[in-house]
Amino acid sequence: MLSVLLVEDHPMNRKLFRDILEIQFAVREAGSAEEALELLEDDIPDLILLDMQLPGMDGLSLARKLKAEPARASIPIVGLSAHAMKRDIEAAREAGCVDYITKPITDDPFTFLERISKSLPLRQESGVGSQGPTEKMDRPDSLPT
Ligand code: MN
Repeated sequence: MLSVLLVEDHPMNRKLFRDILEIQFAVREAGSAEEALELLEDDIPDLILLDMQLPGMDGLSLARKLKAEPARASIPIVGLSAHAMKRDIEAAREAGCVDYITKPITDDPFTFLERISKSLPLRQESGVGSQGPTEKMDRPDSLPT
């Protein structure tokens, strides 16, 4: 089972996201970036769902930190935020987030899970993980194959 590290400080939001993620993933959760860093010491998840607004170190700083570390740079990070402004989304992308989901989520759980899954590394090769963020989101769906 693929694993997700959920980083969200608000207890009710954390429970909401955990309940949805657990349908499909093994979930570990952290209430702060500092706690997330501790969990990342003993386990590398397949994906991180990261709230941008956290007490202490914020989500952008955690994303930048992880992307600067070779051992962790390839973990896809999906940003989570109540801020939907273009500049917020761009800041998250620049910090290394492959996707950005605004709260509160309006998708049904399965649409949400499908969206999360799009950011997972492709794993047809020998488990080394992906080469990091790709441009896959820009690929048109209608290309002939
Ligand atoms: Mn928060």
